[in-house]
Amino acid sequence: MRVTIFGTGYVGLVTGTCLADVGHDVVCVDIDAAKVEGLARGVIPIYEPGLEPMVKANHAAGRLHFTTDAPAGIAHGDLIFIAVGTPPDEDGSADLQYVLAVARTIGRHIERPVIVVNKSTVPVGTADKVHAAIAAELAQRGVEVAFDVASNPEFLKEGDAVNDCMRPDRIVVGSSNPVAVEKLKRLYAPFNRNHERIVVMDVRSAELTKYAANAMLATKISFMNEIANIAEQVGADIEMVRQGIGSDPRIGWHFIYPGAGYGGSCFPKDVQALARTAQHSGYRARLLEAVESVNDSQKGHLFELIQRHYGDDVRGKTFAVWGLAFKPNTDDMREASSRRLLAQLWEAGAKVRAYDPEAAEEAHRIFGERDDLVLCDSARAALADADALVVVTEWKQFRSPDFARVRQALADGVIFDGRNLYHPDEVESAGLAYYGIGRGRSL
Ligand code: NAD
Repeated sequence: MRVTIFGTGYVGLVTGTCLADVGHDVVCVDIDAAKVEGLARGVIPIYEPGLEPMVKANHAAGRLHFTTDAPAGIAHGDLIFIAVGTPPDEDGSADLQYVLAVARTIGRHIERPVIVVNKSTVPVGTADKVHAAIAAELAQRGVEVAFDVASNPEFLKEGDAVNDCMRPDRIVVGSSNPVAVEKLKRLYAPFNRNHERIVVMDVRSAELTKYAANAMLATKISFMNEIANIAEQVGADIEMVRQGIGSDPRIGWHFIYPGAGYGGSCFPKDVQALARTAQHSGYRARLLEAVESVNDSQKGHLFELIQRHYGDDVRGKTFAVWGLAFKPNTDDMREASSRRLLAQLWEAGAKVRAYDPEAAEEAHRIFGERDDLVLCDSARAALADADALVVVTEWKQFRSPDFARVRQALADGVIFDGRNLYHPDEVESAGLAYYGIGRGRSL
């Protein structure tokens, strides 16, 4: 099928590539000329396992094209996807300016019937706004072209996006138009072979489904962080508690890891945006407000542990920081917990030697050159001349360090483990002090 995708970020690029990989003819449109030009040369702007060879192969096979030429893109697709960003605006609501800009562009250029499919995460009611924006442009042009707007929210996870896209748990199609549903079913048929994954529903339910999924996951994390904070106060170990509850299938093992707070481009903004949607409709979402506020304070928790160890004065101390990305297997640092920690350390006059397997370039872009930050080439290099180690992102390679070597490297011999990667006994038996999240017994 002929598909056009607006936006070549995590969602647009991965979706376009996976659709091309199963044989569809895909044109990806972006306004970022440098990104488009790079993609056409095989330069992938994000780190996502498995993506680069797929982009190159499908581009070389002529099934995946990149362009800034929106009219040409619109002329190409029978299905036109919107996969641009929906960042939070000042009050936390989703900012629809990019989505609506694409809608207006579509309205200005469509010449034949199309199905517009919204893949961006957008508040309930956005499909109506997209519809109205396209219709207004058509009216302005004085032409009539049949079109419809469907919702097809995306559930991929950064760090495992290609896999999620090729083997989705479910594909949500929001539309009451049988033609649109049929087209989307045909498009996704290659991903829907061994059992039914496509869930068809009305547009508003589809729009809400995406927020419900992210809000539920964020709630699980904040819940565990809340219990971890209680564990810390009452002298219990959250890791024992986690093992004690996860085996209950009603609770399950996923997303019950306590830590330094959730980040990324989705959970923080989506929880906020859903709370604002509720508020605008006259309902106060108290649970979502609490999820957000627990997460916000959790992002400061590592620094609280540092203060618990050092007192108020960390001026002149050097902290090795392992992990800057908001989670492993990505270079994305949007809303990452590391950003809060680094800001607090710098504010207190400390220095940072940081290592992340993928996010160094992004960190350099965000922080620039500064005297109090050294971006190191390896975990071991980050430890050199450091007083203490803080683990912020749970990359696999941080899981079993040689603690004797860590002890030798760190002047003050202390580890702050923001993801509970280590067993306190093992760390302490190497002569290091250990602080984890919710590990009351070790404090
Ligand atoms: P992103 O910021 O990585 O990419 C957005 C892209 O859209 C950019 O390349 C930008 O240049 C481009 N763009 C902006 N305006 C445009 C226009 N008028 N025409 C063409 N391109 C334009 O965003 P993302 O992370 O891919 O997220 C996109 C949407 O998908 C958001 O609503 C997000 O909430 C949602 N989502 C993201 C994820 C994720 O893990 N990142 C997962 C599921 C859903």
